[in-house]
Amino acid sequence: MITAQTRLLGVIGYPIEHSLSPLFQNAALSYLGLPFVYLAFDILPSNLERALEAMRIFSIRGFNVTIPYKEKVIPFLDALEGEARVIEAVNTIVNEKGKLIGYNTDGVGLYRSLERKGVNVEGKKALLLGAGGAAKAAVWALWKRGVKSIFVINRTRERGEDLANWARAEFFLEVEVVEWGKMKEQDSLPLWQEAGVIVNATSLGLKGEEISLPWEKLSPSVWIVDVVYRRGLTPLVREAKKRGIQSFDGKEMLLQQGAESFFLFTGEKAPLKVMEEALD
Ligand code: NAP
Repeated sequence: MITAQTRLLGVIGYPIEHSLSPLFQNAALSYLGLPFVYLAFDILPSNLERALEAMRIFSIRGFNVTIPYKEKVIPFLDALEGEARVIEAVNTIVNEKGKLIGYNTDGVGLYRSLERKGVNVEGKKALLLGAGGAAKAAVWALWKRGVKSIFVINRTRERGEDLANWARAEFFLEVEVVEWGKMKEQDSLPLWQEAGVIVNATSLGLKGEEISLPWEKLSPSVWIVDVVYRRGLTPLVREAKKRGIQSFDGKEMLLQQGAESFFLFTGEKAPLKVMEEALD
């Protein structure tokens, strides 16, 4: 029931209509009978600063932040906490009595996904496609789960190098970089056989784009983890499943990062099963 005590939560992005967060966040809020509603807001880039000011004015309790604002919101926040300081991207903002605190739950989301699916990467080599915000969260999660080294493949070499330098400096990981366009030339590299996990952290797959991997070269025990999600399976996960390779898409990460944000917003443990059912 909406009363004068009901407070607002939401997700901001541009565009936002694809977001699944309102579905499972509201299911969880109403299951626990908490006095919040969760909406999605399409924020024009020129309105971002004012949107965050409005968060204070309207005492909006919290926002999730999605593409393209995870880094852009940082200058308008009062503080960063936890992983947001390391990953330098924010996907959750909590309004603590007018102070806007930025968190990152994407890293934890992927970490928990790997844990829940039983993906063991300890001492192993990982192959990471992409070098944007999701890739940084993936590096954090892989490091936290004990990965030994990471091979980054990115379209823009410079961005790949930036990610590698960051990962070396923050986590002392062994990291190598290859340009996306040269991936084909790397088909013969042992890394394909040696990779314990391949994480797609590019945005490829969102609109149904295929990612061509040298499938025959992969180890039968490799995990394919896609951070991208869409209605049905992503092309990468569909192909992996067809070939009998263990895999899962970004819905699991979405759920886990959402559960962590839910806790930050409400102080209550998220009812994961309820959220999962709503998402399904
Ligand atoms: P981002 O910072 O914009 O990075 C996008 C990455 O994709 C970059 O590495 C970019 O390469 C690469 N890329 C884009 N188009 C490409 C193409 N045509 N060919 C090859 N590479 C291409 O975005 P992000 O925040 O990291 O998000 C990436 C994806 O992760 C999005 O689909 C997002 O929805 C998903 N995500 C999911 C969750 C979840 O909870 N499941 C959480 C966060 C993000 P360049 O560096 O060359 O541009």
